[in-house]
Amino acid sequence: MDSDFDAKEFRKNFSRSKNYNRKGFGHKEEILELMNHEYTSDIIKTLKENGYEHTWGNVTVRLAKANGFCFGVESAVQMAYESRKQFPTGKMWLTNEIIHNPTVNKRLEEMNVQNIPLDQGKKQFEVVNAGDVVILPAFGAAVDEMLTLSEKNVQIVDTTCPLVIKVWNTVEKHKKGEFTSIIHGKYSHEETVATASNAGKYVIVKNMTEKFKLAISEGFDPDSDLIKVEKLLEKTMMRKYGVENINEHFIRFNTICNATQERQDAMNKLVEQDLDLILVIGGWNSSNTSHLQEIAEKSGIPSYWIDSEQRIGPGNRIEYKLKHGEQVEKENFLPEGPITIGVTSGASTPDKVVEEALVKVFDLKREELLQAK
Ligand code: SF4
Repeated sequence: MDSDFDAKEFRKNFSRSKNYNRKGFGHKEEILELMNHEYTSDIIKTLKENGYEHTWGNVTVRLAKANGFCFGVESAVQMAYESRKQFPTGKMWLTNEIIHNPTVNKRLEEMNVQNIPLDQGKKQFEVVNAGDVVILPAFGAAVDEMLTLSEKNVQIVDTTCPLVIKVWNTVEKHKKGEFTSIIHGKYSHEETVATASNAGKYVIVKNMTEKFKLAISEGFDPDSDLIKVEKLLEKTMMRKYGVENINEHFIRFNTICNATQERQDAMNKLVEQDLDLILVIGGWNSSNTSHLQEIAEKSGIPSYWIDSEQRIGPGNRIEYKLKHGEQVEKENFLPEGPITIGVTSGASTPDKVVEEALVKVFDLKREELLQAK
C-alpha cells in the first residue's frame, strides 16, 4: 500500500458507511444472559467471594486478582453473538478468529460463523458475497482487508477493541511525522499485521519463536534486550540531533493496555506466594497469556500453560506450553498430598474454561485420596 495512504481517514469513512456496525443490534441484555450461562463459573465466583482463595478437598486454589475476559474481548464476543441473532440465516464470516480462545471459537463455528478460508497463507476474500456479514475481530483487521471489504456490498460488524484503535492512531501519527515505527511483536500475529498496516515505514522485530534466533547472537532475548536496543537508539538520536530535539526524532510508547497490565501485575503478586504449582489458562496463540506464563516461569514455580481441560490426563499427566511456545508433557504433575495451586487466565479466556481445568485437578486429587484408603 502507498505509504501516503491515509489509513485513519479511510477508517473514518469506512466506519461511516451505511453497512457498518460497531454498536450492536439491540439484543445486548439477552446475549449477556446467554454468555453468562455459557462462559461464567461458580468456582471462580466462590474464589472471588472468598478473597481469591478457597479450598476444595485437599486442593487450595489461589486465583490471581485480575484474570480472564477483559472488556474488549467480552464486548467482541457479545457483538458476534448479537450479529447471529440479528442475521440468523445469512452467511457470516470472520476475517480472523474473534479472540484467541479455542472454546469461544468453536462455539462460533457451531453458530455457523466461518473464518475466511486461507490458501497458501492468503485469505480468499472471493468467498465473501454481497449481502454476507463480515465480523472484524477484537484485535482488528488490516487496512487492506478493510479496503477489500469496502468494495463488496457486505454488512460489517466491527468488534475492534477501542484500545487497539488507540495504538493504530499512534502509529498513524508517527507516519505523519515521518517516523519509522519499530514494532515489537510476532509478524505473523494478526494484531501486529493490523498495527503495521496503519504505520508508514515500519520494522517488526520478531519474537524468539519465529526463527529470530537465526539472526541474533546467542543468548539474545528480545523481551529484555530490546529495551537496551531502544535505549541505544534513543542515545544515538540524542547524539545526532541534540537532547533538546529528541522529541522530534524519537518517541516511545507502550502498547500494553490496562487489562493486560493488570493481569501481569496480579500475576507478579501471585508468584510471591507459597505455591506448589501454577496453572496458566489461555489460548496457545494468545500473546497476553504467554506473558503470564513467562512471569510464572521466571519465578521458578512449576507452571503449566494449557488452553483447555483436555490437556490434563489421562491420569496425573499434563500437556502444556512454555512461554516461547514449546509443547511439553509431564507425568505426575500434581504432587501427592494437600496442595496449593496458583491460577490465572488470559484476557480471552472464559471463566468456564478455568473451571473445567480445576474440576479435572479436583477429580485427580480425589482419586488419589480414594486410592490411599
Ligand atoms: S487485551 Fe486489551 S487491547 Fe486486547 S481486547 Fe482486551 S482490553 Fe482490548
